[in-house]
Amino acid sequence: MVAVRTKVKEETLDPQDWDAMRALGHQMVDEMMDYIATLRERPVWQPLPDEAKDHLREPVPHEALGAEQAYEDFKQYVLPYPMGNIHPRFWGWVMGGGTPMGMLADMLAAGFNPNMGGGEHAGKYVEEQVLNWFKSIMGFPPEASGLLVTGGSMANLVGLAVARTTKGKFDTRKEGMQNGHAKMVLYASAETHSSVQKAVELMGFGSEALRKIPVNDAYEIDLAALEKAIAADKAAGYHPFCVVGNAGTVNTGAFDDLAALEKITRREDMWFHVDGAFGALAILSPDITPRLDAMQRADSVAFDLHKWMYVPFEAGCVLVRNEEAHRRAFSLTPEYLKHADRGVAGGSSWFSDYGIQLTRGFRALKVWMSIKEHGLDKYGRMIQQNIEQAQYLAELVKASPDLELLAPVPLNIVNYRFTAPGKSDVELNAINTEILFRLQEHGIAVPTSTMLHGKYAIRVAITNHRSRREDFDLLVDQTLRFGREITAG
Ligand SMILES: *Cc1c(COP(=O)(O)O)cnc(C)c1O
Repeated sequence: MVAVRTKVKEETLDPQDWDAMRALGHQMVDEMMDYIATLRERPVWQPLPDEAKDHLREPVPHEALGAEQAYEDFKQYVLPYPMGNIHPRFWGWVMGGGTPMGMLADMLAAGFNPNMGGGEHAGKYVEEQVLNWFKSIMGFPPEASGLLVTGGSMANLVGLAVARTTKGKFDTRKEGMQNGHAKMVLYASAETHSSVQKAVELMGFGSEALRKIPVNDAYEIDLAALEKAIAADKAAGYHPFCVVGNAGTVNTGAFDDLAALEKITRREDMWFHVDGAFGALAILSPDITPRLDAMQRADSVAFDLHKWMYVPFEAGCVLVRNEEAHRRAFSLTPEYLKHADRGVAGGSSWFSDYGIQLTRGFRALKVWMSIKEHGLDKYGRMIQQNIEQAQYLAELVKASPDLELLAPVPLNIVNYRFTAPGKSDVELNAINTEILFRLQEHGIAVPTSTMLHGKYAIRVAITNHRSRREDFDLLVDQTLRFGREITAG
C-alpha cells in the first residue's frame, strides 16, 4: 500500500511578502546614506541613556517582533549611540571609518553569502585577486601566499604561526611547545602592539619568550640592544627564531629600521615578520615608500584594510613570502573536507589551508569593490592627506605656548598635552586626563591617550578620510578652552 503523503506545514526564514522586505531594504539604505552624509552635524559620541541600556538587556524574544520592529529597535536604541569612529573628528586608537560603498558591498557579500573556506566559485577568485593586488602593492612576488583575516591581530598570529613551524628545529605542530627542546624566543621593540604578545601567549611560547627590546628617542627598536639580546640568548642555549619589525607603531607611528632588521634576521637564520597594521599601507604615499623598502623582503607582513584602507570592519591581510611554508603551518584536510578535481569541491587551493578559520565570510568583496570604485591612486592621496594633517596639527601644537608636542610625528599620529607654568607632570597628567574626557563627553572629538616617558599624552591617530583641517583647528581650540577652564577652576 502506498503511504498517504501528508501535507506538512514547512517554514522558511525568507519573507512572506518580498515586496515589503524590498521596501524595508530601500528604506534602510536611504536612511543609512542620510546618516552618513550628515555625520558632521552630530556629536562624535554620546553616552547611552538608561532607557537604551535597559532595552539592550531584555531577555531573548521567543515570538516574532517582525522585520519592521527589529529595524525600529535598531534606530531607537543603537543608531544614536555610535562608537564615533565614522565621524570626521574621531582619531582614537587606530580605526577606519568605512565608506558607503563598503557598506553596500558588505550587504551584497551577505546576500551572496559564499563560504570562503574553499571550493570552486567566483568568491574564491575575488579573494585571490585582492591578495594578488596586495602582493604587488607590498612588493611581494606573485608566487607568495596570503589570506584575508579579521584584522591585524589575526594577521600577526598567522604570520608568527608560520614562523614557528618554519623555524622550529622540531615538528612544532606535532610536539607542541611542551617538550625538551631549546626554548624558542623572538624579539620585538617595547613599542610593539599587544596583539603580538597575545599571539605569542596563545601559541604556548609564554610571554617571557617575547624579548621586548628598548627603543631610541624616535621610538624605534634599539639595534645594539637587539643584537646583544640575541647573542645572550644564544649563549644561554635558547633558540632565537624571529624578529618582529614595526612599520608604524601604535603609540607614535614609528618605523623600526627594517633594513637593519632584515640583515640581522638573514645572518641569524631567523624569520622576519613585519607588523604594518596601518603603516604598511603608507607604501602608497611616495614620501614613505623608501622607508618601507625592506618590508618587501620580509618573510611575512601583517596589515589592516579596516584602518588605512578605510573599509568597514573587519578586514586585515597577511602575506607570506613562501607559500609552502604558509600551507605547512595550517593545512589539515580530513576526509570530509577533501578537495575534488571537479565540481564545487574543486579548486586546487583552499583558504582553509592557510589559516585557522574553516568557514569564512566574503570580506574580500568590500575590498575589491572599494578599490575598483576609487582606484588605488586615490588611496595613496588619502593616506598622504592624513599624513599632512598630522603635520598640520603638530604645527598648531608647536605654535601654541600652552601646548606641548610629546613625540616626533613620523607618520599620522600626534601626541600632545596642555601645559601650564609651574605644574608637575603628575598634575599635568590629571589635567590632560580631564581634558580628554571633556573632549569626548561634549561630543567634540575623540582622541585617546597614551603614556610617553611618564607623561600623559592626548593621542590623535589620523586614519580618517572625512577629517578636514578645520577639524584640527577645533580640536586645538577646545583643548585650550578646557585646559584653561580646568587650571582656572
Ligand atoms: C591595530 C593594530 C594591531 C591590531 O590590529 P586589529 O585590526 O585591531 O586586530 C596590530 N598592530 C598595530 C601596530 C596596530 O595599530
